[in-house]
Amino acid sequence: MSFLDPDLSGPWAAVLADRYARADSVSLLRAMILDVFPGRITLVSSFGAESAVLLHMVSRIDPDLPVVFIDTGKLFGETKRYRDQLTRHLGLRNLQIITPDPARLKAQDPDGMLFSRKPDACCFWRKVEPLERALAGYGAWISGRKQFHGGARADLQRFEAVDKRIKISPLAGWTRDQIAAYFTAHDLPPHPLEGEGYLSIGCMPCTARAESGASVRSGRWQGLDKTECGIHLSLSEARKRANL
Ligand code: SF4
Repeated sequence: MSFLDPDLSGPWAAVLADRYARADSVSLLRAMILDVFPGRITLVSSFGAESAVLLHMVSRIDPDLPVVFIDTGKLFGETKRYRDQLTRHLGLRNLQIITPDPARLKAQDPDGMLFSRKPDACCFWRKVEPLERALAGYGAWISGRKQFHGGARADLQRFEAVDKRIKISPLAGWTRDQIAAYFTAHDLPPHPLEGEGYLSIGCMPCTARAESGASVRSGRWQGLDKTECGIHLSLSEARKRANL
């Protein structure tokens, strides 16, 4: 089997899940970056409240690994400043900031208010489509999702095959306490909005503070029947959800 054969991504995900079933998160990451997908893997990071854990691990394995950050044009300034601070702090040398296609945005979201009318379409043009472009040529990408986030993530596995690529979630089984302990152990700076009650941090119009004791992602798209932006769906599912 070859990772260059797109039709075999599904079987490969199962093979990798089996082969690395007992590997801890750092060992798993090291194997994926250095041995299994050298030169063909990237970390996609929102530089959100928990992102520093994976970014720190990656920085210790390969500081030149491409780190993809989607600047939707609707982010908190704090997130962008945190991104730059953390990138410097960890010595990451290959941050790739991607943005929506300006012509597409002009056509699809001319007043910048699509989020209030059709949030799934807004996410598609500001997140899904730019990421799809950025992932062209990669055989695998790393995601920071965890099961304790709940909802569609509750059954998250460490390896998935999506759109002919392998998606790897090394922290899938981690708990909130483990995340907090890792921050402490490695003296990682927190996202500045976390101290203001934001537990999951995305775009400004679609992110609110979480109520005390509420689930981590309860502040995202509050009041809407929406819990994910669509980058973790297949491209066809994301299009369907956005009515495109
Ligand atoms: S999170 Fe909100 S503002 Fe950001 S892309 Fe999605 S709908 Fe648009």
